[in-house]
Amino acid sequence: MEVYSPDPETERLELLHKYKELLKAVEKITTDKEDINHIRKAFEIAVDAHKEMRRKSGEPYIYHPIAVAMITVSEMGLDTTAVICALLHDVVEDTDITIEEITKYFGPQVAMIIDGLTKIAGVFDNTKSIQAENFRKIVLTLSDDIRVILIKLADRLHNMRTLEHMKRDKQLKIASETMFMYAPLAHRLGLYKIKTELEDLCLKYIEPEAYDDIVNKLATTKAVRERFISRFTLPIKNSLNDQGYKYQIKGRTKSIYSIYQKIHEKGVSFEEIYDIFAIRIIIDVPFEVEKAEIWRAYSIVTDLYQPKPDRLRDWISFPRANGYESLHVTVMSPTGKWVEVQLRSMRMDDVAERGLAAHWRYKENNAVESAMDDWLTKVRETMESHNEGEAVDFIDAFKLNLYTDEIYVFTPKGELRTMAVGSTA
Ligand code: MN
Repeated sequence: MEVYSPDPETERLELLHKYKELLKAVEKITTDKEDINHIRKAFEIAVDAHKEMRRKSGEPYIYHPIAVAMITVSEMGLDTTAVICALLHDVVEDTDITIEEITKYFGPQVAMIIDGLTKIAGVFDNTKSIQAENFRKIVLTLSDDIRVILIKLADRLHNMRTLEHMKRDKQLKIASETMFMYAPLAHRLGLYKIKTELEDLCLKYIEPEAYDDIVNKLATTKAVRERFISRFTLPIKNSLNDQGYKYQIKGRTKSIYSIYQKIHEKGVSFEEIYDIFAIRIIIDVPFEVEKAEIWRAYSIVTDLYQPKPDRLRDWISFPRANGYESLHVTVMSPTGKWVEVQLRSMRMDDVAERGLAAHWRYKENNAVESAMDDWLTKVRETMESHNEGEAVDFIDAFKLNLYTDEIYVFTPKGELRTMAVGSTA
């Protein structure tokens, strides 16, 4: 932990720098003058409201809302409203600014989101442990504006990234809450990257030795892995080039947490995990032909390497309920090692990594849109049908819904339905 020594002039310049970085990121989503003016107004209010406050690290508090705003725009791809709300997310709860003032400056929508964020914060801080009922309340806010949950996730992600400055008992409390609630939510919203980072950070604080052990093993085996990947992908690259594909190909190592899970749930050693990495081929193709082009690339890969028939996963024809689309195939390498190859378009990759927010930018894909809408509707219905006292049942149902795999069934009229494993008619 580094010791923070404040110097007013350095801090002023650093703040300015952070603000400029934020504006640079915002420019990618909007160039509207009024949008930028609103963001500046939100920034000024937040700077002033938090001016006497510092974080546990000693840094000015304002660095936190700026970091959260940065996550919403550059890691979640959210809009101007989300950036404004992220900048102001702690002012009503922690400072003298009122919701009425927020409404006056930014209108009812921003005020509603900040009110939602303030209420969620209240639910957390008044309790020593996580209770079922609170969980229900949190998920209920999904029905107000999804941005409440997304900004809350960004807030939690930044708090987890800066958790080293907290005391050990606080670290454990925050990490357990994150593992229990936020990582599953990120998963359900299809924010794969954020979910993975949250889980890895949780493990780092909950099981520091196991975490360090895996990090070290990944580091020592890195060179061998990379050599294998470059040999394995070379013939694929040659064929894709011959066929005139525009693509990216990379080796994707399993997350630290999923390696940990494999070791503990399957009782295997690090060395025995056969799918420690996968090959990902991301193809740059127009939306209209992406499915055909991906299957053509599949054909190229399986001409070079023998596929394992029972390991084909077609989430292109049948996207998962959280919007995930990809074609996974496991093939035999010349050295006798099974390797998973994931094929997807750039659009699919964006959706897979950044989730829900990315869906909004690909509105033409109605199938994915409606899968997400269906899920949100289902969550709302489930919650409305449960009374306060039944919250524990609800948690079980929700967690079950989060973690079990899905099956696909057809109605007599031939319509596809996604259901949880074990569902009955
Ligand atoms: Mn916060």
